[in-house]
Amino acid sequence: VTVPLVVLSGGMDSATALAFTVATYGAADAITVDYGQRHVREVEAARVQAGRWSSRHDVVDLSDVGRLLTGSALTDTVAVPRGRYDAPTMAATVVPNRNAILATVAAGVAVARGAPAIVLGIHSGDHHIYPDCRPEFVTALHRLLSVANDRDVRVDAPFLHTDKAGILRVGVALDVDYAATWTCYVGGDVSCGTCGSCDERRAAFDRVGIPDPLPYTI
Ligand SMILES: [Zn+2]
Repeated sequence: VTVPLVVLSGGMDSATALAFTVATYGAADAITVDYGQRHVREVEAARVQAGRWSSRHDVVDLSDVGRLLTGSALTDTVAVPRGRYDAPTMAATVVPNRNAILATVAAGVAVARGAPAIVLGIHSGDHHIYPDCRPEFVTALHRLLSVANDRDVRVDAPFLHTDKAGILRVGVALDVDYAATWTCYVGGDVSCGTCGSCDERRAAFDRVGIPDPLPYTI
């Protein structure tokens, strides 16, 4: 029996996507791509999340690729923007062609394994800044995979039209361990609390009305 393959970063969205896929299909595999992102803590969080659902978890090292994806605050020496997640300054965190790279690596594994789908944790709050998180990207990717392979591989994005608070509500109901997720873009020992990514996460917990189990510097 083959199961969907979740692209798992270790952040809240993909951790919830993994739990949601396990709840829907009974089991799911996970794949994490190390592209040399600053927040290497995410990879450790991904291990914990995969272990929680007994998912097969492969970590793929694409750090040599990431080193060439210069100009982003996540892969280069560009400063991580502070403030709101939907602010124009967050464009500094766009990694060139990131989701297409991650998704096609996952799709190759899915085809090799006979998996029915890859699963992405992208959500509506990402649409504004990240072109590779928009509905047209998902549609085009599915089309690409269908012409690139003899067998259909679905692209599931269960939260494509859900915001961060909505994802959190789903995850709380599925008992996702949010203490073992990593959101901060700065990548210190403790979440900074002021980068756009921390800001978005804290706003989601505020809106849902539950405490965030992560400690913050500020
Ligand atoms: Zn932060």
